[in-house]
Amino acid sequence: MPDAVTLPLLLKTLHLSAMNQNLAETTILAEQEHWSYQKFLAELCEQEAAMRYTKRIQRQIKESKLPIGKTLATFDFKSAKSINQAHIQALSENTSWIEEAENLIIFGPSGVGKTHLAVAIGYAQIEQGNKILFTSTTALVQKLQLAKKELRLSQEINKLDKYKLLILDDIGYVKKDEAETSVLFELISNRYESGSLIITANQPFSEWDNIFPDNMMAVAAIDRLVHHATIFNISEQSYRRKQADSK
Ligand code: ADP
Ligand code: MG
Repeated sequence: MPDAVTLPLLLKTLHLSAMNQNLAETTILAEQEHWSYQKFLAELCEQEAAMRYTKRIQRQIKESKLPIGKTLATFDFKSAKSINQAHIQALSENTSWIEEAENLIIFGPSGVGKTHLAVAIGYAQIEQGNKILFTSTTALVQKLQLAKKELRLSQEINKLDKYKLLILDDIGYVKKDEAETSVLFELISNRYESGSLIITANQPFSEWDNIFPDNMMAVAAIDRLVHHATIFNISEQSYRRKQADSK
């Protein structure tokens, strides 16, 4: 017959570690406050669920490779007048655009907060249970190029399907010779209407012929990207420069 003595062992066997940890304290509280059996059990279950949620989020954050500290809370909207705060907030709090596999493209010169905003939206989406991956576009292109050489490009691209949102930082840094292999085009085609992308770019679309092997492919890639997309143009001065100027 199971009893109070074997309960911790049973909880351990069932991998209910938060219940186990809180058992003694919660039992005392339940006795003091004359809880019903259901309330006691519900309390312990809630603690277990809360701990699992926190652990899952921590795991997802680690896996996402998101840079640390770039959240909406640390973004100063007052010094970024060309950014529509309500729109950024909506993209952070809302998951429907991710479910619809829509994209977000953020244009702007260097240092205006493109990466910061992309990352902040990424964190908010993780909080809401979406799996995401942040990567510099160049690093991903190099990885995909290697995969192509080894005839496993489609497997490598398919591996990214598990991420509901893929953040490609600095697409414009892809070099012409890297572009020749067209792996980026294949990635964009693969994600079209199946998974969201956030892309940050220093160059406007008109200069994207450097990122793809030829103009036709650039046009085809842009077509797919913008079909279901929000586009931000940030026209600020560099945040770092502004900070330096105000000192
Ligand atoms: P970009 O990607 O446009 O080149 P970043 O997002 O890397 O620019 O921003 C450059 C630096 O300035 C980062 O450290 C970022 O956190 C910070 N930054 C930029 N804009 C803001 C802002 N409005 N509020 C707070 N920090 C900002
Ligand atoms: Mg950046």
